[in-house]
Amino acid sequence: MGGSTLSNSPLTNGIVAARLPQSAYQSNFADHEPALDRHEARVAADRCYFCHDAPCMTACPTTIDIPLFIRQIATGTPEAAAKTIFDQNILGGMCARVCPTEQLCEEACVREAAEGKPVEIGRLQRFATDTVMSKGVHPFKRAKATGKSVAVVGAGPAGLACAHRLAMKGHDVVVYDARPKAGGLNEYGIASYKSTNDFAAREVEWLLKIGGIRIETGKALGRNLALADVQKAHDAVFLGMGLGGVNALRAPGEDMKNVRNAVDFIAELRQTGDKSALPIGRDVVVIGGGMTAVDAAVQSKLLGAENVTIVYRRGQDKMSASGYEQDHAASAGVRIVTHAAPVAVHDGAVEFAYTEEGPKGLTVTAQTFRLKADQVFKAIGQTLAGAPEGLALEGGKIAVDAMGRTSVKGIWAGGDCAAGGDDLTVTAVKEGRDAAEDIHASLMA
Ligand SMILES: Cc1cc2nc3c(=O)[nH]c(=O)nc-3n(C[C@H](O)[C@H](O)[C@H](O)COP(=O)(O)OP(=O)(O)OC[C@H]3O[C@@H](n4cnc5c(N)ncnc54)[C@H](O)[C@@H]3O)c2cc1C
Ligand code: SF4
Repeated sequence: MGGSTLSNSPLTNGIVAARLPQSAYQSNFADHEPALDRHEARVAADRCYFCHDAPCMTACPTTIDIPLFIRQIATGTPEAAAKTIFDQNILGGMCARVCPTEQLCEEACVREAAEGKPVEIGRLQRFATDTVMSKGVHPFKRAKATGKSVAVVGAGPAGLACAHRLAMKGHDVVVYDARPKAGGLNEYGIASYKSTNDFAAREVEWLLKIGGIRIETGKALGRNLALADVQKAHDAVFLGMGLGGVNALRAPGEDMKNVRNAVDFIAELRQTGDKSALPIGRDVVVIGGGMTAVDAAVQSKLLGAENVTIVYRRGQDKMSASGYEQDHAASAGVRIVTHAAPVAVHDGAVEFAYTEEGPKGLTVTAQTFRLKADQVFKAIGQTLAGAPEGLALEGGKIAVDAMGRTSVKGIWAGGDCAAGGDDLTVTAVKEGRDAAEDIHASLMA
């Protein structure tokens, strides 16, 4: 499986590494949207009308003062712009890279409505945050120590945002995470070409410069960490454990060794420096219709798979991957087949049945077809795994009120593991931040 010599090609049968020349891996996994330079940023910022009651700001889940930070860039003070962003969203650097801006701030931008070309808010946000982060400057200081201690379970965007806000307020924070590295899906999930050069790890390091936060990795609630002990050792608990489980296909053949959870494949891909060492099939079938399905499919293609097909059981308009993401998949050469549900996985192929949507909901027809597949990825949704007993659930997630309080006093939750809200990085940041404010208010009351 040596990475440097080309031993295989996209036409090699089976699941093999090194399908492409080394240079192709470098360009395929490079930053998919290069950073703006100072001049480009000024030009992009000059397109902003600095609207009063700016719709872009309302559309941002973390309510960043977008016209203000763009004005600060336009007047040559990107450091001030970054502070404006970080005030609301301490992971503004990652969000600038991964937010579906085409569905959020940029969709709401008045220039999108007028001209079909919004102000490039995401890229401007990246310009400002990169300027400060690349200097290693951390623009916040801790308040006087309160003597209170808070446990955060999960070092993903929700947990990190919560921990940072609490540390800023003067509390001591211990973040427990089951994985060997902090960052959650920023580190193990986001597509490689959105977060290059180890940005997730560098962002965590930068965030921790606030002080007062200790991260303990390899600590899994419910496995080697008991909730009762955590509660005893701390004054409050925030749960930001994401969605650790995955839905099953419930089709015979699912346990064959060429069938994998898309999230595991993506995590391995994110953790592998030399992408040429990663084996991938010639004919890859991805089952699902969300962001995970698109990311698994696109990255399979980038690894050199010849044919990659996403198969989704409903129509394209029902896919949770946005139109933008679907177009991205199509432009990467991924085929999307809709209205088909898996019936069985066979050796070398997946059998699907066509589906119909009618008054009785989605039904499977008797008409079937097979797609050649030497590798199959399941991307049919993540589920909450290992939620502590005793917490009320809602729709399979932890029930919370508007401030992130769970049904148990002293325990808050936010991010993907909590009910309500989109499963997006920016939403997780907002929920972690807001829970921290409420934890602070309750500890100081
Ligand atoms: C493949 C993929 C691609 C995505 N791409 C995008 C994108 O481009 N843009 C976007 O906005 N969103 C994207 N998302 C969604 C986004 O990543 C999530 O919404 C976000 O990471 C949720 O943050 P979180 O902190 O709630 O959970 P997570 O990021 O999942 O973090 C949870 C953390 O808790 C830890 N943990 C879990 N169980 C335990 C336990 N029992 N004890 C201790 N620790 C535990 C985990 O190890 C993890 O570090 C993507 C998701 C996936 C799966
Ligand atoms: S809506 Fe567009 S033009 Fe108006 S403030 Fe926001 S980014 Fe600027």
